[in-house]
Amino acid sequence: MHEPVLVLNANFEPINVCNTRRALGLILNGKASLVLNGRGEICTVRASFPKPSIIRLDKMVRRPRLSVRLTKREILRRDEYTCQYCGKTVPYLTIDHVIPRRLGGRHVWDNLVAACPTCNHHKGGRTADQAQMRLLRLPKEPPSSALYLFSRHLHENEEWLPFIQGW
Ligand SMILES: [Zn+2]
Repeated sequence: MHEPVLVLNANFEPINVCNTRRALGLILNGKASLVLNGRGEICTVRASFPKPSIIRLDKMVRRPRLSVRLTKREILRRDEYTCQYCGKTVPYLTIDHVIPRRLGGRHVWDNLVAACPTCNHHKGGRTADQAQMRLLRLPKEPPSSALYLFSRHLHENEEWLPFIQGW
């Protein structure tokens, strides 16, 4: 019941991912309809229900445009799990403030990069310039396209692709 289900707005815009339990609740309460099944059936004592992969809300929900959440996981994903100073892909990447916080650097997309422990330690409390370290590319906020937002689910839910592309 914990598989991800793609939630579309009434206009088919992908807006969220919820789990099967919540998706079924929305369908049974008449708030959403099944768009794509593809996962078999859920059987209860009284009835069986198609197990949803994609649902669509019956009423349009107004909401601000989605953006990528500023988390360590999302910073690493944006930087393709690669140290932005030396280009190595190591298992234990850290997050580096390009301009350190104590020098007024802010906790924002364009001041945060993935860094390997060696580079992070070498840089210490200095700016990249002071440490004479160059970034592979300038960090910036990732695109807020549905494809970028939901792409981590795609390898297990390929059927979502046509519903995500273009938003
Ligand atoms: Zn490095």
